[in-house]
Amino acid sequence: MISLADYLQLLPKTELHCHLTSTMRATTLQELAARDGVALWTEDAEHLFDFADLVDFLHGWRIAHEVLRTGDDIARVAWEGVEDAVRAGNLRYREYYVNPQYFARRSSPLSYAEVVDAVIAGLRRAERDFGVGFRVVVAINRRESGEAAVDLVREMIAHPRPEVVGIGQDDLTPENTEDPLRFVEAYALAGAHGLRRTAHVGETPSADPENVRAAIEVLGCDRIDHGYRVVDDPAVLALARQRGIGFATTPWSTTICSGWTLDETHRIRRMVDAGLPVSVSTDDALFFRTDLGREYREGLTALGLDAAAAQRIALAGIDMAFCSDAEKQRLRAEFRAAFLALDALLAP
Ligand SMILES: [Zn+2]
Repeated sequence: MISLADYLQLLPKTELHCHLTSTMRATTLQELAARDGVALWTEDAEHLFDFADLVDFLHGWRIAHEVLRTGDDIARVAWEGVEDAVRAGNLRYREYYVNPQYFARRSSPLSYAEVVDAVIAGLRRAERDFGVGFRVVVAINRRESGEAAVDLVREMIAHPRPEVVGIGQDDLTPENTEDPLRFVEAYALAGAHGLRRTAHVGETPSADPENVRAAIEVLGCDRIDHGYRVVDDPAVLALARQRGIGFATTPWSTTICSGWTLDETHRIRRMVDAGLPVSVSTDDALFFRTDLGREYREGLTALGLDAAAAQRIALAGIDMAFCSDAEKQRLRAEFRAAFLALDALLAP
């Protein structure tokens, strides 16, 4: 017999909302920073990952990119992140948000192709070693302009890779807002070229639920990252349900970035209760000191969700994924077989 916590730990999982740089090990961050003399956001190693809020965290997150000097660094971090997530939470498939604009702008730039090819090389090696499938979603850096986002999509179109299947976002605008409509042209161009679309909207108490509507209706998103404010506007909630939009939520991050407590009144629980497809991810595991196992083991139980709900969440992650239908079929069969075996072990 196993406990619910063990069950949730062992459950096979997808992760869709995962920023590549945040899959870095703390030890690798410190090793590479020391190697290159990169000053991190604080010299207080004990409180390296204590962040007051979303804006405070993003400051550290930007600096962390600086330690990834070469394609080999990026490939190493990509591989290590898979090894860790398999051990921490039985990861079986993951999608990565990768921010080429950051690497292109810094003093030691890497090109779009150098960045994505390094990510793919690391993840292909991890796929061989651990059997974890993946796709890459290029993240629009919201600190950049709408025109720069269009240029980024043009880069994607000029350098097609079968592993790179869509666009998403990271960071916030220079005004620390979501402002999805700033990037409407980039999303239109991406959609016209068959790229899948997702956006970070409705994350914090100050984010307008209308941003969720804009992401669905104007940007044409296939799914939404965060999106918690959807439950605060019945019309937007109805729209999301009618369109079958899935939400890639990140429970632990909301305790820091949104200032919410994980309990049975949390918006993620209300999204589940409203029948929305909800998946669970870490967002930025390194910075929030979380991992995929913890999100299920501690996060879902704090939300008052049971084993059956955890299975639905794991399967929703397959439904919402940007991989092929054949890969989804394989994952569903694998997950269902594992669920049967785990259900037989779960203590009543
Ligand atoms: Zn995110």
